[in-house]
Amino acid sequence: MRQQIVAGNWKMNQTLEEGIELTRLILEKIDKPKGLVVIAPPLTHLKEIGKMLKVRKHFHLGAQNCHQEEKGAYTGEVSANMLASVGCEFVIIGHSERRQYFKEKNDVLAAKVNVVLSKGMRPIFCCGEPLHIREVDTHVGYVAKQLKASLFHLNEADFRKVVIAYEPIWAIGTGRTASSQQAQEMHHAIRVLIAKKYGKGVADSTSILYGGSCNAQNAAELLSQPDVDGGLIGGASLKADDFAVIVAAMK
Ligand code: PEP
Repeated sequence: MRQQIVAGNWKMNQTLEEGIELTRLILEKIDKPKGLVVIAPPLTHLKEIGKMLKVRKHFHLGAQNCHQEEKGAYTGEVSANMLASVGCEFVIIGHSERRQYFKEKNDVLAAKVNVVLSKGMRPIFCCGEPLHIREVDTHVGYVAKQLKASLFHLNEADFRKVVIAYEPIWAIGTGRTASSQQAQEMHHAIRVLIAKKYGKGVADSTSILYGGSCNAQNAAELLSQPDVDGGLIGGASLKADDFAVIVAAMK
């Protein structure tokens, strides 16, 4: 059975004090999740929030990005080693906002995946198409290219540690969600692609999360799809009640 995972990406939101309170509420409202819950707060909060999560089973600490180099003169950046040293177990790589605003390309993302794995953490690798690609019906090929370019150099043992998040860009933070049918179609296509490269056993055990305006109202429907193994949640992860409902929707 593959793991069900709901990950909250707080992005650049919450002061430390607010983040601690949000974490306290999340831990209070979520008792025994059916799968893993990952919280990815801003860098400045990792240590404190990590301490709160550590004492609870099924809760894990994640980061939103890291630099591809091991260390060095990269002012303002953070390394995978630093993230591991404060207890991170997951790192989101290739979020569409990183691709768009920080011009992160597939080859840099492949290097980030490598460094995260080399420090014993698991990448949550984001892929997804912009609206104009969806409109001309080439979204499956577009996402396949992203996965091939940034993940398919991995050996099987490393690939098994990767979590994939399919996030159609037109659905992120827009309130416009992919229909459960659109999500299932793409998740299935991704699984078929993985099976071709690594075999059915690996494909069947890879967790593929959906992200893009997933909220308390639509989570049950989206997460019930056979190839949707949880969610990467932005806006709704900042509201403890809504996040708890989404976590409860895991299969
Ligand atoms: C995200 O940023 O990964 C995301 C899915 O955001 P939202 O849920 O706000 O659309």
